[in-house]
Amino acid sequence: MKICPNCGEQLADEAIFCKSCGVNLDDFVVGKETPAAPQYIPPVEENDHKIAIILGYVGGFIWPIIGLIVAIYLLTRDSEKAKKHGKYVILFSLFIWVVSLLIMNR
Ligand SMILES: [Zn+2]
Repeated sequence: MKICPNCGEQLADEAIFCKSCGVNLDDFVVGKETPAAPQYIPPVEENDHKIAIILGYVGGFIWPIIGLIVAIYLLTRDSEKAKKHGKYVILFSLFIWVVSLLIMNR
């Protein structure tokens, strides 16, 4: 048993034309498979600026100025992820900076 994709009529498996609306069922099978094919969306956003984000955290830990420069770079990107990490890198770099100043002044 199969169902007509045009009108929903129940049909025999070997039916080529719908007995209710007369549609060619083979045309529908071919037509349906094309849009059902998995559409490949490249994950550009996921890997975007990954190196810069890592450099921001690592650089900010070693030398906060590096972190701030990378953070400004990330904040000026179009990617939402890069902007979000840019803010975190700024906060992280400032935190490391304040901590290092406190340790040096002790
Ligand atoms: Zn039909």
